[in-house]
Amino acid sequence: MKLQYIFDKAFADERISHEEALRLWHEAPLYLLAEQADTLRAEKVRDREVVTWQIDRNINTTNVCVSGCRFCNFHCKPHQTDKHFITSMEEYIRKTEEMFALGGDQLLLQGGMHPALGIEYYEELFRALKEHFPTLRLNALGAPEVAHIAKISKITTREVLVRLRTAGLSSLPGAGAEILVDRVRKIISPAKPSAEEWLRVMHEAHEMNIPTTATMMYGHIETIEERIEHLLRLRDLQAECPEGNYGFTAFIPWIFRSEGTQLEKMGYSTHFSPIEYLRLIAVARLVLNNIRNIQASWLTVGKQTAQMALHCGANDMGSIMIEENVVSSAGANNRFDQEGICRAIREAGFTPRLRNQLYEYRD
Ligand code: SF4
Repeated sequence: MKLQYIFDKAFADERISHEEALRLWHEAPLYLLAEQADTLRAEKVRDREVVTWQIDRNINTTNVCVSGCRFCNFHCKPHQTDKHFITSMEEYIRKTEEMFALGGDQLLLQGGMHPALGIEYYEELFRALKEHFPTLRLNALGAPEVAHIAKISKITTREVLVRLRTAGLSSLPGAGAEILVDRVRKIISPAKPSAEEWLRVMHEAHEMNIPTTATMMYGHIETIEERIEHLLRLRDLQAECPEGNYGFTAFIPWIFRSEGTQLEKMGYSTHFSPIEYLRLIAVARLVLNNIRNIQASWLTVGKQTAQMALHCGANDMGSIMIEENVVSSAGANNRFDQEGICRAIREAGFTPRLRNQLYEYRD
C-alpha cells in the first residue's frame, strides 16, 4: 500500500485506519507529512492565509481535588486545608473586568474536583457571572468535572449539562482527555473518568449542540499506538455528531510537563522533541479530517515550534491566556502578549486574526 493512498483518503474525508495512521507516523518523511497536512489545512479553513488567535482568561475555580492526577502539581487534597482556595465572587469580578479591558470576551473556568461543590454551586456561579457580564462567554469545566458534579449531585451528566447551559455555560473545553486509552488513564489519572465516560459526556454535549474542543496530553507513558487510538476515538466521536451541530471545534495537543510531578518521581520526565510535535500535528490534521481547527499550543511548545506547526497543519495559535496555572506549575513558562502573538504569526508567513471560541473573527 502506497502512502499516497492514505493521503488520498484524508483528502476524500474518509476514515484513515489505525494501521494506516501508524504507517504515516512511522514511515512518512516529515517534509511529505507537512506538505500534505498543510494542503489539507488550506482546504479546511475559511481563509488559507489566516492564522487565528484568542484572548481569554483562565480562572481556577478551586484547587481542591479528589482526583490526584499524577501529572498535576496544581491541586491539593481535601485534607490539606492550609493550601485550599475557592475563588471568591470579588476575584471573579476583578479578573473578568481586567480581561474585558484587555479585549477578551471569555473566561476559561476550570479547577479541581471539589468534593463539596455540586451542581447548585456552579449554577449560582454561572448565573452571577452572566448577571454581572451579560456578554461574557463561559468556556467552563470539562467532561471529568461534569462527571464529578453529576456523581456528587446524584444526577445524570446530561442533566448537569442542561442545567449548566441554562445557567450560562457557552462551551465545554476538551480538558481531561489526556490519552483516551484506559491502560494509560489508570496509571496517570486513576481517579478520573474512563475514556468511555469522557467520550460519552462529550457526545451528550454534541447532541445538545454545546461547542467543545478536544485535547491530548502526550509524551508520558503512552505508546505511539495509543496516540493513534486517541486520535481515532476523537474522529469517530466527531463522526457521530448530529449534522449541523458544532461538535469538536478544534483539536489541541500539548506535551506533558513533568517538573515536580508524581510521574517524574516514577521516572517519566519530559523529553520534548520539536520534530515529534510537528509529526503529531501533521498526522492529527490528516487523521482528524472531520475537525476543522488544529491548534499549535505555544504555551507548552514555545514560539518557534508553534510557528513551524503552522506549516504542518495547524491553523490556530491558541490564546494569549491572561492567567494559566496548571501547565505553568509543571514547567511550561512561555508567554505572549497581543503584539507578540500577532508578530509570531506574521513571522511565520500568515495574517493574524483575533477569534472567539467558535472561531469567528472578532477583528
Ligand atoms: S489535573 Fe485537574 S482533575 Fe487532575 S488532579 Fe489536577 S486539578 Fe484535579
